[in-house]
Amino acid sequence: MNKGHTINVLDKGYVQYIDSMGDDTYPVRAARMSTSGSFVSWEPYEGHPRGDQGILEYLYKNQHNTPFEMGDLILEVKAPIFVFRQWQRHRTQSFNEFSARYSFMPDEHYVPALDRVKGSSASNKQGSGEPLTEGLSADFIEAVRNEQADVYQTYESWSQTGVANELSRINTPVSRYSKMWAKANLRNWLAFETLRLAPDAQWEVQEYAKAVADIIKALWPRCYGLFEKYTLEARSFTKAERDAMCQLLLAPDSVVHLKTLFSSEAAYKEFMAKLVA
Ligand SMILES: Cc1cc2nc3c(=O)[nH]c(=O)nc-3n(C[C@H](O)[C@H](O)[C@H](O)COP(=O)(O)OP(=O)(O)OC[C@H]3O[C@@H](n4cnc5c(N)ncnc54)[C@H](O)[C@@H]3O)c2cc1C
Repeated sequence: MNKGHTINVLDKGYVQYIDSMGDDTYPVRAARMSTSGSFVSWEPYEGHPRGDQGILEYLYKNQHNTPFEMGDLILEVKAPIFVFRQWQRHRTQSFNEFSARYSFMPDEHYVPALDRVKGSSASNKQGSGEPLTEGLSADFIEAVRNEQADVYQTYESWSQTGVANELSRINTPVSRYSKMWAKANLRNWLAFETLRLAPDAQWEVQEYAKAVADIIKALWPRCYGLFEKYTLEARSFTKAERDAMCQLLLAPDSVVHLKTLFSSEAAYKEFMAKLVA
C-alpha cells in the first residue's frame, strides 16, 4: 500500500495511510532475537513444516504480545468530533489534532444518510434499532442540517467581528469534522479494532474501524489473519456455558461426532483439551 492511500468514510471523512514501520516478519524477528536467531522464511524449511508462519501463529495464539508491538502505524483521520470522542479514549494511541483555536474551521459537518436514521435499539440502550418512517428520518436530517448551518453562521460572524477563534467556536456541534494523526503499535491497533469493529460499537465508528482494518490487512496480512482467527472471530465462554457444551458434546448418546468437525486430529485434541481441562 502506498503512503497517502486514502479510504473515504461517511459523507466527508477519510482514513489516510501516513507511514508505518515493520511487516509480518517483525514479530518473528523480535521473538527469535531473544535466542539469537532471526526470520528465516514463510516457506517450509527443515524442522519447520509451516515455515515461520508456525512461530508467528504460536506467538499470537499464546498471547506473547510484545513482538506485535514492534510494528507501528500512523494514520490521518478526518471524522466528526463525536467519533474522535470515542476514538481518543484509546490511551495507547498518540494523537495530534487540528487546532480550532489557531485556525478558522471549515464548514464541514456530518449529515447521516437517510437509511442511517433509526430508532433506539430494544436490546442495546446505546445503539440504534429499527428504521423510522422515511418522513421522520427526512425531518430529522433537515433539522440537523439547518442547525449546523445556523451555528456555523453564528461562529463565522463572531469570528469576523474579531472574537478569538477559541471562543467563537465554543457552541459548535460534535457533528463538525476535525482532523488528527493517530499513531499506535500493531498490538494496540488490533485492540482498537477488537472494540470498534464489534457490533455494539457505534455504526459511524465501525465504518472508520473497517477502513483501519483494510490498511492493517494490506501492511500485515498474516498478523491480521491471526487476529481474525484467534480474536475477532473467536469467542470465549463462561464456566456455565462450557459446562453446557460438555454436557451436550460429551454425553454418551451425543448425536455430534465431534472428531468429524475438525480438520485434523491435532485440532480435535486441542479442542478436547480446552473443553475438559
Ligand atoms: C461499545 C463501547 C461502549 C463504550 N461506552 C462507554 C461509556 O459509556 N462511557 C465511557 O466513559 N467509556 C465508554 N467506552 C470506552 C471504554 O470504556 C474504553 O475507555 C475504550 O474502549 C478504550 O479501551 P481501553 O481502555 O482498552 O484502550 P486503551 O486506553 O488503548 O488501553 C489499552 C489497554 O492498555 C491498558 N491500560 C491503558 N491505560 C491503563 C490504565 N490507566 N490502567 C490500567 N491499564 C491500562 C489496559 O489493558 C487497556 O485495555 C465504550 C467503549 C466501547 C467499545
